[in-house]
Amino acid sequence: MKNYELSLTEMNRLVKWYNKNKRDLPWRNTGDAYDVWLSEIMLQQTRVEAVIPYFLRFKDALPTIPSLATVEEDTLLRLWEGLGYYNRVRNLQKCAQVLIQRYNSQLPQDYESLLSLPGIGPYTAGAIGAIAYGKPYAAVDGNVLRVLARYFGSKEDIRKPQVRKQFEICIQDYYQKIQKGIEKDKNYIPSFTQVLMELGALCCIPNGMPNCKDCPLKKTCISYQKNLYDSIPYRSSLKDRKIIHRTLFLIRCGNKLLIHKRPNKGLLANLYEFVGVDSSFTKKESLLYIQDLGFEPLHISLLPNSKHIFSHVEWHMKAYEVEVSEIYSLKKDYRFVTKKELQSLAIPSAFKTYLDYYNLRD
Ligand code: SF4
Repeated sequence: MKNYELSLTEMNRLVKWYNKNKRDLPWRNTGDAYDVWLSEIMLQQTRVEAVIPYFLRFKDALPTIPSLATVEEDTLLRLWEGLGYYNRVRNLQKCAQVLIQRYNSQLPQDYESLLSLPGIGPYTAGAIGAIAYGKPYAAVDGNVLRVLARYFGSKEDIRKPQVRKQFEICIQDYYQKIQKGIEKDKNYIPSFTQVLMELGALCCIPNGMPNCKDCPLKKTCISYQKNLYDSIPYRSSLKDRKIIHRTLFLIRCGNKLLIHKRPNKGLLANLYEFVGVDSSFTKKESLLYIQDLGFEPLHISLLPNSKHIFSHVEWHMKAYEVEVSEIYSLKKDYRFVTKKELQSLAIPSAFKTYLDYYNLRD
């Protein structure tokens, strides 16, 4: 394992840069561990600018850990709608319930306790401990991996757990080296943790040329000196995603649309969706399917195709709008709803094209 070392002079320059250049974000400097936790979960896979309105709306509706623990699932999912990865918000709620039972409705400070909570992995445990409580824990996310890999000129595969581990050790060793300074300045670790993330968002950006001329690390950055920024970080490619061809049916009866609640396990568990099958149906097959559901189709028309990418699966969707005559009886987990009712339900962004079709989103 390689041994990377951070220099005090350079890192102090970095922290000063942070204090001058940091963005004013609603979860920063509130002194509330709930804010750090919630923002870190929301920021996984989503950009800061996109997260801000979600964060404000969520905190407005659920300002405390007890309010998060007790909110109805439908409301919770609605607040998360658009961020995707719904298991994250379910785990937030599970975690809040554990915090009430075991930790007096507070997030604990020590790393092992944080790590034992639902939905909290090594990165989030490190981020909560370091940012909210000033503990000497490393929090290495994708931004930090990129910054440090470029800074040290590391060409190793950042998908490998041992590469992340190397950088975690590097940060922990640095904290040990400057222990006395940390004890004097309680803001040092929160600032240092956030500057590595901030640098990755403002200077050492992904997918393109980093903004090295404004970077406080440029004097000693190996990628800058050797012009390596486009080959570092190196990330091996993931295996191809599985492609699933789907057909959706937007079944309309008068001013109501048919929706279906997905099973309580698996992809998009417990969320509402338009009725669909995991296959590409012709118009004729679609009409037969709709009759099997117990409806009399009056009119069918093809809608535009759409695609949604999950982490390991891609849905390639075609869709039909189908007008049906009267509703007699409905199978379990199916219901007809008005536009207004539909707007109050959690519908995954996978169906955005068709929600937009009905102007169902703001
Ligand atoms: S100098 Fe450039 S490549 Fe190096 S850390 Fe800064 S932004 Fe990244």
